[in-house]
Amino acid sequence: MQGFFGENGLRPVCHLSCMEQQYPSKLLNRAVEEFSRLPGIGRKTALRLVLHLLRQNEEVSDAFAEAVKTLRHGVKYCKVCHNICDSDVCDICANPRRDSSTICVVENVQDVMAVENTQQYTGLYHVLGGVISPVDGVGPGDIEIQSLVDRVKAGGVDEVILALSPTMEGDTTNFYISRRLADTGVKLSVIARGVTVGGELEYTDEVTLGRSILNRTEFTANH
Ligand code: ZN
Repeated sequence: MQGFFGENGLRPVCHLSCMEQQYPSKLLNRAVEEFSRLPGIGRKTALRLVLHLLRQNEEVSDAFAEAVKTLRHGVKYCKVCHNICDSDVCDICANPRRDSSTICVVENVQDVMAVENTQQYTGLYHVLGGVISPVDGVGPGDIEIQSLVDRVKAGGVDEVILALSPTMEGDTTNFYISRRLADTGVKLSVIARGVTVGGELEYTDEVTLGRSILNRTEFTANH
């Protein structure tokens, strides 16, 4: 018996995962598909979230959809530090009480929030929007390094703190930035590594991260 039956005469086993999930509605299917595009959300979780939204008042799902849509179309990036904001310049850059002579260089917006939560840092930020990663095709020109160099060269900056993840990509980026800033005479420091081992900034607890910023050390190429 060939064809429908397998070699041993039994029906081939088909796991649930290889079957096309059937939904009773095309609209439901579409919503599940969109939700399951989000990181960490499988189709099962997506279905649970969609059904949860369906059970809420219409205003709840309308507010949800509206928030996503206006976020995408309305969100801005600070023209100074590239943090997410609602106007041209973010609240941190626009705050006259912040120390504008110190710039903390971070990979992403979550890192700004993580450092802010420590309440230990009063300077400004520079959000690179990634790190140099040849494997992923991310070169120095793909992230906000030139604008950092421009900021430092414009004057008024005494210290640049490198607060990138302790990964090979983070190290490569630190090294590249140090080379680009070498002739500016700006003081270059790096957050204390010993206390941030194994974690990206956003996952590091606030006390530890706060301490690692206060205990920053001078950057050297063999860091
Ligand atoms: Zn800003």
